Amino acid sequence: MYKIESHVVMTTTEDYIENYVDVPKFLGYCKKCDSYGKNWSCPEFNFDAEGVWEKYKYVYIIGTKVIFDKDVINSLEDIEIAKEQMQEALWKEKKVLMEKLWKLEEDYPGAISLAAGSCKLCKICQRKIDKHCIHPDKMRYSIESIGGDVGKTLSKLLGIELQWAKDGKLPEYYTLVSGLLTNKDDITIEI
Ligand code: SF4
Repeated sequence: MYKIESHVVMTTTEDYIENYVDVPKFLGYCKKCDSYGKNWSCPEFNFDAEGVWEKYKYVYIIGTKVIFDKDVINSLEDIEIAKEQMQEALWKEKKVLMEKLWKLEEDYPGAISLAAGSCKLCKICQRKIDKHCIHPDKMRYSIESIGGDVGKTLSKLLGIELQWAKDGKLPEYYTLVSGLLTNKDDITIEI
């Protein structure tokens, strides 16, 4: 039904902060999202988001393209059903990605991963019911939640344009964007 294509690039956090991080701008977008203040991986935070980047020297960006088979897309008459199927595929790949990122953290102590999107480990995030996160050891922030410009990151650093469903048409692919913050500059990420 689909194939996966992964792209990895590394840069310094100094470069990344200067060219790709704008906390106030992306906080503004987050405020318009239903998850704002309702998921522990999303703003608002009780810490300085830019400070997260500053703790590390390097950031590895991982773009995972989920490329749907054209025949499959064309055979799906109902766009809503098609979208659901794509969401399922994306969720499955996101879980695979999370496992690989947690493994990288184990292999490179001190590193911390950046998730592809908000945390969906629980059916209902505990923040919605004013309770603490129940998997703080597994929950990770996304690039955008701490002010990273995912669209610009993808196009400028990885040469990938973001695509999404538009005018009743499904995109050729979706891209999951995740990362790894670390002080090591010699990690080979095969994901
Ligand atoms: S692990 Fe559960 S409680 Fe914690 S941020 Fe994720 S969804 Fe929310």
